[in-house]
Amino acid sequence: DHAPDLLVVGSGFFGLTIAERMAAELDKKVLIIERRPHLGGNAYSEFDAETGIEVHKYGTHLFHTSNEKVWEYVNRFTDFTNYQHRVFGKYQGQVYSLPMNLALINQFFGKSHTPDEARALIAQLASEFKTEDATNLEEKAISLIGRPLYEAFIKGYTAKQWEKDPKDLSPDIITRLPVRYTFDNRYFNDKYEGLPVDGYTAWLTRMAEHPNIEVRVGVDFFDVAEEFKGKVPIVYTGPVDEYFEYAEGRLSWRTVDLKSEVLDVEDYQGTGVVNANDPEVPFTRELEFKHLHPERADRYTPGKTFVVREYSRFAEEGDEPYYPINTADNREKLLKYRDLAKAEPMVLFGGRLGTYKYLDMHMAIASALSMFENKLRPHFVDGAELK
Ligand code: FAD
Repeated sequence: DHAPDLLVVGSGFFGLTIAERMAAELDKKVLIIERRPHLGGNAYSEFDAETGIEVHKYGTHLFHTSNEKVWEYVNRFTDFTNYQHRVFGKYQGQVYSLPMNLALINQFFGKSHTPDEARALIAQLASEFKTEDATNLEEKAISLIGRPLYEAFIKGYTAKQWEKDPKDLSPDIITRLPVRYTFDNRYFNDKYEGLPVDGYTAWLTRMAEHPNIEVRVGVDFFDVAEEFKGKVPIVYTGPVDEYFEYAEGRLSWRTVDLKSEVLDVEDYQGTGVVNANDPEVPFTRELEFKHLHPERADRYTPGKTFVVREYSRFAEEGDEPYYPINTADNREKLLKYRDLAKAEPMVLFGGRLGTYKYLDMHMAIASALSMFENKLRPHFVDGAELK
């Protein structure tokens, strides 16, 4: 029973990428410990037995990237479908095409504006506030898109996401609110987009399949830390504040409650994601997973569909930390944690939780590939200090 060459804490895309590179490229033995009962982190999914539909257990995960290296790397483990993500939003009994585009503007104002006419209209409506004078999120949004579109498509949704009136939110939360003066309603602008043909879990599992990699699920690092700390190099992808026992206070997170339901209808909403913009509707979005994989239609149980409603709120102790919150207080704490992390011997901090930074999957993978090249390879191959 040999000690591993590297311990990876957390089996999300960051940890798996590190482990895979160490095992396949440097022939090193890697132990991954994961406190959940399954590997894969937040991208994990399961096929629902009743409906045959792949359900993303921690919210919909859409893969997209413009990074050539990442695209080449991920294609080693899975093929991708040609799924293109599109989002719709309900408001006062109508359904609009998002992101804000010419279809939405024309439908909302009941007009058939040309791109130039729509641009002029939004500029005129946005002149109510100057962006640089905005003292809160509401004024900032109005300065970018004008009051009517703000009130319909930003106000209610944002209030639910943050459990706060946008008047009480910092203008820094939004930098821009892109409006497209075309009918293009593709959600992502990236060069590559698609969903893993056999599902996320098959992809994530293949990354860990190397004989040099051992995964232990259901093990919390903090229960076994003394076995490894200071003895084996560690890549830690859990929450950075938790590692240091909240010495600088707790970083705050937003979380999402996902309430799922199997409905006895073939098709509930005709698409994967519909936002709920009305403030009186308590959830923020409805997800219908079968629409992410129309190519699997013949494998689904007829007459049934799997729907999830998302409710956004602040994370409390014990909740899943999902989205970092960009406030002065959190930024200040994070700087202190970064100093502690830098000083921690033989431990590298990475990933979404370890850096307190929202990372899309492709960003988590890119960041892990660069940690491997810039820190781990020099350490393991050339004997450079690990830091
Ligand atoms: P994670 O996937 O969170 O993995 C970290 C792992 O570490 C977890 O499994 C956790 O259980 C484990 N861990 C933590 N502490 C310990 C401990 N003490 N001991 C053992 N294990 C521990 N990205 C996209 O590209 N497209 C999307 O559409 C998208 N949607 C998302 C929706 C939501 C709700 C969330 C939260 C994220 C979404 N992402 C999306 C981001 C994607 O999930 C991240 O890129 C990915 O999770 C980052 O991987 P990671 O390895 O850093 O973190």
